Amino acid sequence: MTDSEFDLKSLIRDVPDFPKPGIVFKDLTPLLADAQGFRIAIDRLAAPFVDAGIQKVVGIESRGFFLAGPIALALGAGLVIVRKAGKLPWKTQGVTYDLEYGSDTVEMHTDSVADGERVLIVDDLIATGGTCAATVRLAQDAGGGVVACAFLVELDFLEGRAKLGVERVHSLLHY
Ligand code: AMP
Repeated sequence: MTDSEFDLKSLIRDVPDFPKPGIVFKDLTPLLADAQGFRIAIDRLAAPFVDAGIQKVVGIESRGFFLAGPIALALGAGLVIVRKAGKLPWKTQGVTYDLEYGSDTVEMHTDSVADGERVLIVDDLIATGGTCAATVRLAQDAGGGVVACAFLVELDFLEGRAKLGVERVHSLLHY
């Protein structure tokens, strides 16, 4: 099959009621395990940003890391990781955001995005947008300019992209 014909959706597995009843989990492990599929996903995610002058790709824990690393290499950018509270070893800055029940915090090392750097944020999936919106704030608080956010999967019905406050949102697969 040629790259342009390749159907990435066929490699996303729906797992009903995981991790809790009512959630249909989008499992990307079949895509990661398929050499052609994985390469095409990275190519398609990175393509719109090849000439965008991206200096840092920010990956969100944990499935965002699998995509952000190769995208950073493809764009000639550095890789920055955003993790849940308490996981990073050095000095961090954090942003807390609301969940359906309770709240969560994402953190980034204070020296990982420099003032004025052009940033692309990457995660595997955008649902409500809360996690990525908090990551946008983290990057902006550090002085970064968030050029765009990119996702393998977008759950359109949750309208998460409206929360991001970022003009360019690039998602490969819509549900
Ligand atoms: P949200 O903050 O609601 O946009 O949730 C996004 C984060 O939760 C991402 O890091 C996803 O990996 C994960 N996530 C949320 N919903 C799903 C789902 N249906 N399938 C897989 N991952 C999900």
